[in-house]
Amino acid sequence: MERVRCLIIGSGPAGYTAAIYTGRANISPVLYEGLQPGGQLTITTEVENFPGYPEGVTGPQLMEDMRNQALRFGADIRTGIVTKVDFDQHPMRVTVDDEKELLADTVIIATGASAKYLGLDDEKKYAGMGVSACATCDGFFYRNKTVAVVGGGDTACEEAAYLAGLAKKVYLLVRKPYLRASKIMQDRVLGNEKIEVLFEHNAEGLYGDNGVEGVHLVKRLGQADETHYDLPIDGFFLAIGHKPNSEVFAPYVKTDEVGYIVTEDGTPRTNVPGVFAAGDVADPHYRQAITAAGSGCKAAIEAERYLSEHSL
Ligand code: NDP
Repeated sequence: MERVRCLIIGSGPAGYTAAIYTGRANISPVLYEGLQPGGQLTITTEVENFPGYPEGVTGPQLMEDMRNQALRFGADIRTGIVTKVDFDQHPMRVTVDDEKELLADTVIIATGASAKYLGLDDEKKYAGMGVSACATCDGFFYRNKTVAVVGGGDTACEEAAYLAGLAKKVYLLVRKPYLRASKIMQDRVLGNEKIEVLFEHNAEGLYGDNGVEGVHLVKRLGQADETHYDLPIDGFFLAIGHKPNSEVFAPYVKTDEVGYIVTEDGTPRTNVPGVFAAGDVADPHYRQAITAAGSGCKAAIEAERYLSEHSL
């Protein structure tokens, strides 16, 4: 059976950065790209906050640059989805696409997280044309415009407050008659005159000829006084939670109640020796390309140390 010294699972900024570092350290990493090569950044347009690109760069270009940099240092980048792992044995056993098995001395989990969507066809139709799941990434394009944020948790309140610093007007669409967010975040939203909270509102669809021009809303869905109306907006932001892609590893690696992999404070070390987690799969807080890349670097350095300490 094939045995690799460092197996990297995932191809966002964390995975590729880990591949660049382990490649340069002569560890000959093998990286599996998964379902969405390049990760979440491949579905954004312009990235303006990644250092080193003063004029900005598109998400797909940034990921291609990172991928090429990893290839340059000898990373073996493959297509495939890790469907099963056994971290009880060392080297660890990993199954790809339910058929190929390989052994790994170290594993870096960089499988990311996926933003949750409502499931409307229009979310796909207007993807990158007014629909976003990341205010920090895309908020800048809505300066002095009108946007709606969906959700009533801390993320939604945080995104709404962030967008209120840029946009002319922010509607927060909350399906319940109350916010689930912490008191401090609620106060921040309710006390902001640019933000209007629309309780008991659900989005049914979007409309517009060249990108989003408005949202079809239903108020008090299922009640006797249910009403439908259209609200003109320029941007539609989802903030109904993220799902870390950790299921395959959860039987072995400690996760929190949402599924984020728990790492030792400030390090990418998981509870399993030789298994490291980097990027959004272990980060409920920052979720930025640059923080993911940074943690991919840390994971690579940890893997390198682990291999040398164990003479592998
Ligand atoms: P949450 O699960 O806390 O909230 C999700 C929100 O989206 C809820 O209001 C929920 O509504 C709503 N929602 C879910 N599905 C739908 C749907 N289909 N249609 C309409 N609305 C929907 O997720 P968050 O991402 O906000 O937070 C995740 C965790 O991270 C939490 O523990 C949070 O406290 C933490 N966090 C903390 C921050 C901070 O402290 N600054 C910042 C960001 C996150 P409903 O209430 O009806 O279920």
